[in-house]
Amino acid sequence: MSLKKVIPQHTVQTILETARIEEVVSDFVRLKKRGSNLIGLCPFHQEKTPSFTVSPSKSIFKCFGCGKSGNAAGFIMEHEHMSYPEALRYLAQKYQIEIEEHEPDPEEIAAFNERERMLNLNSFAQQYFSEVLFKTDEGKAIGLTYFKEREFLEPVIKKFQLGFSPQLRDSFSSHALTHGYASELLLSTGLSIGSTEKLYDRFQSRVIFPIHNLTGKVIGFGARILGSDKSKAKYLNSPESLVYEKSKSLYGIYFAKNAIIRQDNCLLVEGYTDVISMHQAGIEHVVASSGTSLTIEQIRLIKRYTKNITILFDGDPAGIRASMRGIDLILEEGMNVRVVLLPDGEDPDSFARNHRSSEVLEFLSETSKDFVSFKTSLLLEDSKHDPIQKANLIKEIVQTISLIPEPIYREVYVKECSRLLQVEEQTLLNELNKLLRQKFAKQAAVPIADTSLHTTQQEYVVSGPESQTGYFQERELVKILLEFGGNILTQTEIDEDGFPIEQEESVARYIIEDLKADAIEFIHTTHQKILEIITQELKNNHIPDEKFFIHHPEPDVAMLSIDLLSSPYEVHNWERKNIFVKKEYSSLQQIVTSNLLRYKDKVIDYRLQQLSEEIKKTSNLEDQLILLEQKRRYDQIRKQINERLGIIISK
Ligand code: ATP
Ligand code: MN
Repeated sequence: MSLKKVIPQHTVQTILETARIEEVVSDFVRLKKRGSNLIGLCPFHQEKTPSFTVSPSKSIFKCFGCGKSGNAAGFIMEHEHMSYPEALRYLAQKYQIEIEEHEPDPEEIAAFNERERMLNLNSFAQQYFSEVLFKTDEGKAIGLTYFKEREFLEPVIKKFQLGFSPQLRDSFSSHALTHGYASELLLSTGLSIGSTEKLYDRFQSRVIFPIHNLTGKVIGFGARILGSDKSKAKYLNSPESLVYEKSKSLYGIYFAKNAIIRQDNCLLVEGYTDVISMHQAGIEHVVASSGTSLTIEQIRLIKRYTKNITILFDGDPAGIRASMRGIDLILEEGMNVRVVLLPDGEDPDSFARNHRSSEVLEFLSETSKDFVSFKTSLLLEDSKHDPIQKANLIKEIVQTISLIPEPIYREVYVKECSRLLQVEEQTLLNELNKLLRQKFAKQAAVPIADTSLHTTQQEYVVSGPESQTGYFQERELVKILLEFGGNILTQTEIDEDGFPIEQEESVARYIIEDLKADAIEFIHTTHQKILEIITQELKNNHIPDEKFFIHHPEPDVAMLSIDLLSSPYEVHNWERKNIFVKKEYSSLQQIVTSNLLRYKDKVIDYRLQQLSEEIKKTSNLEDQLILLEQKRRYDQIRKQINERLGIIISK
């Protein structure tokens, strides 16, 4: 395999502009005309009535059932499980667009080569371990016998490419060296330990479980000891490396992904043997996080295929409690989490071996509980007769509920918990609202890096690290830029002689100039990127339209634009969200102005908070006076803003 060349940006744009979303989608989905759109059954979730919508005019698809949306490349990535470049190549081929690729630079080549070489060696190692297992006396007598005792049958041993490492201390290392693999590579993959002068095998006399990435390449190994030597670790695993990032990989994902899509659910178990036994029982939508607690990256990996996770716990209470926090992370990602408690003394491995697959599936569907109820019942047992503990429990459960992004689900859980805990719904709601307010207040804050305040009455200086947000207000402004950037605003100005003159200006220029005048930059990276792109285009007297952004070669820009342009209830339906109080005043000018003011109001709010804290901390009188003066000016500006907002809202 050679290093894939890089597709130049202008070609990316050509591909995205040429691809017709309706043609790309209808290769996979039957679409019917509905008004100016096309609709069909969503390929990404199970549905009986079509909510999957394709808009040829906007070149995007959006499913109103599962929420997935994107452009043509996004559809192919999602549907065919391709990377972005792969999807682009697919489209290029479909539309016979030639890709003149630029040669990758030396750094790209070096990193790529290093990865390739490591993957290569891993694959070589996997074959070696498998051959030892099946073809040597030692492998057969020790390794294969062990697997047979575990009731792993040959098809599943072969499918998971299991192997055996001999007892000799350097058998694999010297085998690899004689086949021309470099010592450095043996060390960097972690297959060998020691030094380049003398290499030893990391895995000696162990059965081997190769760990595969999404595309089936071996990225690392787990290795289990056979005897019961308590002085040695039961499992040894490959160390982190360029190709094996533990927090980003899931054991079994390669073998599970299709089944996960089919079942629209992912079972989560503890380790190698659980995954393999479940497969052997015919249950294939299973992955394991391998010892560590689940990370955000792993959750997002699963989320590419399904929104539903079912976690299988064995009866060990300590283990369950340790996993609770990881599960909060899953909820926060907007996924639905269910939990299954296996019968005492069983883990997924033994349970799958001792039951027929239909029994396993039945058990899962009959005993699985949603996570919130599960956690509630579990904690309730701990605190049965202790009112203080029960109060803490309520707080903890509500905290968990507050992580769920969807209000409707939150509501359902509040009801259910009120029943389980025998607490008034209102009590839970009050607690929940308190937490939500805190959370949103945090999200709305805007940091200001520049602490010197050189301001006239009109200036608000904002620039800052990317870590924070003024998120919702920024988002609204970006949405307006995308949707109405090319619309014209008419302004009346009074010239020196007191005559009114009409000025025409595009919404895009108006917003950008206005932000520039106050030296405001967006905090969120992609928001700012869009702002800069528009600024650049305006310099060439071009106002980019919706399509320009939907087809933008930078995926984060395209994705955000699609997201903003396809979400129905924000800018389109102002009244619903009470963004604008009176419908008759929602002219474009007012929408633009009030959004700008609202955003600045947030910016100043935050700056004022910071000032108050600084004032509290400063003991030097002179500094204090300066800070107080700054605060006074900000207060003034804010008052003006609120007056203007008031006029717009209540005029
Ligand atoms: P036993 O035969 O004693 O039950 P096991 O190999 O099934 O041993 P367990 O101790 O039962 O291992 O572990 C449960 C699951 O966690 C298994 O699927 C195992 O593969 C996995 N596991 C255990 N320890 C580790 C580890 N250090 N790294 C990765 N996975 C592990
Ligand atoms: Mn076990």
